[in-house]
Formats: sequence, C-alpha cells, structure tokens
Amino acid sequence: MLPEGRKEWQVRVFENRYPIFSSQAGSETYGIHEVIVETPDHEAVFHRMPVNDIALVMQAIRERMACHSLNRHLAALMAFRNQGLRGGASLSHPHTQLVGLSMIPPRLAEEADTFLSQAEHGSCPLCLDVSDPFIVVEEGSFRALSPSVPRFPREIWIAPVHHEPSFLNLTDVELDDLSALVKKVLGALSGFFDPFDYNIVFHTEPLGDESGTFHTHLEIVPRAEPLAGFEIGSGMMVNPAPALEAVAELRNVLIP
Ligand SMILES: [Zn+2]
Ligand SMILES: [Zn+2]
Repeated sequence: MLPEGRKEWQVRVFENRYPIFSSQAGSETYGIHEVIVETPDHEAVFHRMPVNDIALVMQAIRERMACHSLNRHLAALMAFRNQGLRGGASLSHPHTQLVGLSMIPPRLAEEADTFLSQAEHGSCPLCLDVSDPFIVVEEGSFRALSPSVPRFPREIWIAPVHHEPSFLNLTDVELDDLSALVKKVLGALSGFFDPFDYNIVFHTEPLGDESGTFHTHLEIVPRAEPLAGFEIGSGMMVNPAPALEAVAELRNVLIP
C-alpha cells in the first residue's frame, strides 16, 4: 500500500546496471551495488526537496544497509551520492548509490583504526564537547562540524551528537533530524559554489566490528576543483581554506 497522499512511490531501489563489483560470492571482487532513486521528479534538486522526502531516502539507505548486513560475504557497507560533473555523476536523475564490499576499503579501515586507538585513550573524535570550535551547528540529535584537517575546501561532516557506531541503528526521528540538517548544510554550501558539485559519503561501522568504537557520520565534500597531478601523484591534498575560517563562514549563513 502506498503511504497516504502519495500517487506513486517516492523512493525506488534497483541493482546498478553497471556494478563496480563481481556478483560471484566468494570472489575477491565480490560486492553488491544498488541505485536508490530518490524521487520520481527528474528535475528535483536534492537539497531543495522537502525534509520528509529526504528522510524517505535516508530510511531507504538504512533499510537496504540492514538487509545487506545479513550477507556474510560482505565486510563493509557504504552509501554515496554524486552531484554534478565534478562529483562524478553519470546519471542526472537524483539518486544515491549503495555498495557492499567483501573487504573493508582503506579509508574506512583507517577511520575504524583511528576510532579504536582513540577509544583506548577514552575518547572519540566525533563525541565533541559542545564548545568545540569545529562544530558548525546542531539540529536535534545531529551536528555539523568541520574535520580538523579537511581534504577539500568547506568539507563538512554530519554526525549524531551521541555516540552511535552504526547508521543501521538510527531511528526514524533521528533520520528526520539528519535530513533537516543535511538540507540546511547543503543549502548553505550551495551559496559558495557555482556549480555546486559535491559528494556525500555515508560511513557506518564495518560489518563484524564489535568494538562499538566507530561513530557513524556523513561526509559532505564540495568538489570545486578536480584532483590535479600533485594530489594524484603524492596522495596528499592541498586545501587553501583553513577549517576554522570555513566554520565561521558557514555559521554566518546558518545561525541568524
Ligand atoms: Zn563517538
Ligand atoms: Zn568517514
């Protein structure tokens, strides 16, 4: 049955026609790759969609992640959203992608290691004190913050205020808060970029990680400049925008 007042489903999920991974379970390159179509409206702009519709996308991501978390061939799940040419979008209809990998990808593994080693010292890099200068704004159960060493100008992360390792555990109410904040932050960021191309990455604890030390988060990464030779050759990122200046500029837009 369709939700009340809806003529058709807002969000649909398909297998990706051009999957990154092999569908052969047991293969080293095994994985799953799904496309979450966010809205029937081809022209919709994600950050201008109603919060309720963004929340339906968040719920779909959580449900599909929960489903694939039962697949014992998978080691990690990750969702991502590519916006615009520089964000690597190959399809213009608004969509998010979900992948499940048979290995933990290097960046997620590095983050999980950092969370684990910080926990040994009794802290979590995303359980911030309310006065932390890297916090941009808080919306209910979520807050937006700048990583202390952002890779890209005005890179912003969004994380639950309270420690929560898994995106799968977020409640509908928390996903509503998250959606409202994502909309606000994307809206604010869009004023600094033309065109506003970006990626959103959804990081959740690796499957089978029972340490509870990971802190789930979204990374919003504006893509004003393509990666150039230095970045590709060195693996180092050049970011001319200091983190705290970006925080101050965004606060000016977001906090009246
Ligand atoms: Zn935490
Ligand atoms: Zn992350």
